[in-house]
Amino acid sequence: MTAAQRGFESGPVGGRISAVYIEDGAADSAIARRVMDRLPGVPVHHLGAGAQPPTVSFSEGKRSLHLKKRRGGFLEHCPAGTTGLVCCNYLVVNFASNCPFDCSYCFLQDYLATNPQLTAFTNVEDGLAEIGRALARHPTRQFRIGTGELADSLALDPVTGLSRILVPFFAEHDNAVLELKTKSDCVDELLDLEPRGRTVVSWSVSPRCVVRGDEHGTASLGARLDAAARVARAGYRVGFHLDPLIEHQGWEDSYNGLIDEIFAAVRPESIAWFSVGSLRMTRALQRKVRARPATLPAPFALGAELVAADDGKMRVWRGLRVRMYNFVMQRLAQQAAEVPVYLCMEGSGVWQNTVGEAPSDREVALRVVAGAAR
Ligand code: SF4
Repeated sequence: MTAAQRGFESGPVGGRISAVYIEDGAADSAIARRVMDRLPGVPVHHLGAGAQPPTVSFSEGKRSLHLKKRRGGFLEHCPAGTTGLVCCNYLVVNFASNCPFDCSYCFLQDYLATNPQLTAFTNVEDGLAEIGRALARHPTRQFRIGTGELADSLALDPVTGLSRILVPFFAEHDNAVLELKTKSDCVDELLDLEPRGRTVVSWSVSPRCVVRGDEHGTASLGARLDAAARVARAGYRVGFHLDPLIEHQGWEDSYNGLIDEIFAAVRPESIAWFSVGSLRMTRALQRKVRARPATLPAPFALGAELVAADDGKMRVWRGLRVRMYNFVMQRLAQQAAEVPVYLCMEGSGVWQNTVGEAPSDREVALRVVAGAAR
């Protein structure tokens, strides 16, 4: 049985990487030097500029690491900002591509299907210069910028140490908040840094049964919440994304338990924001999820009945989405009414049915950024 058929291992991410490919000209970077230092004994292959590692399957692409310069821009608007949906004005910066974890519902299975190689970009200084120019052009705007769109923000941090570059950079800029979003417990690099209120570390969280069934290779819920408590003690605000909410037998009890566990781990004063979102997939992604190896547990994500929505994605039908949002948001408000909560990728009608108002994109963005500085 291959590793892909067995599923993804738990344990340190560095131990899962079986080879490193370094592009000519990237080896002298801080990122490459750290990777070499932290992965002794892992075979290293040198590639000419622009050359690619051997073509591999999506699963195999997660088990070797390509270090290369990024050509083109690093910063872009979050793709969730689709016309017709209330948007939180989020920017994403891509310092890596793909993820060593293997969530059943991960959109990268489709989005990166033709380019699955796990990659860390080494010219981080070019990305920071681009961010610096954007912040300088709009000095009165408050930016929220995340690294967790095409990658998990912290899964590779034990080997790249990227947070040691990013957190000090954002600490020096008063009009931006960095969000490091993860399903890992890789926070050791963060603990001796000074975020100065400019970095929020956030976790995507699901009930324990969903973590076991669908979020292969990630840290357990308990390990994520322990990590959140550690960074909160170190002076960071933390965030939680209850996204995707996945309907399953007994979901009310599962989400009740999840919310209780969050507040048992972290005090409301340390929480910058919550987001809540429903399961959503393109048809192509749904086909990929169905085609996953039968040796993996049957994913909860496949138990949900999805219907086509206006933006072309498949979603849980609206009545159930609103019911799940109301249930979760009422429970969050009972525990911490002062913490901002936003809906991810929903239109104004669902906002109205859930929170009784349909704020503008700008209002949502201002509330969420304010959560980091409360
Ligand atoms: S942690 Fe995020 S990026 Fe990684 S596999 Fe899971 S959903 Fe995808």
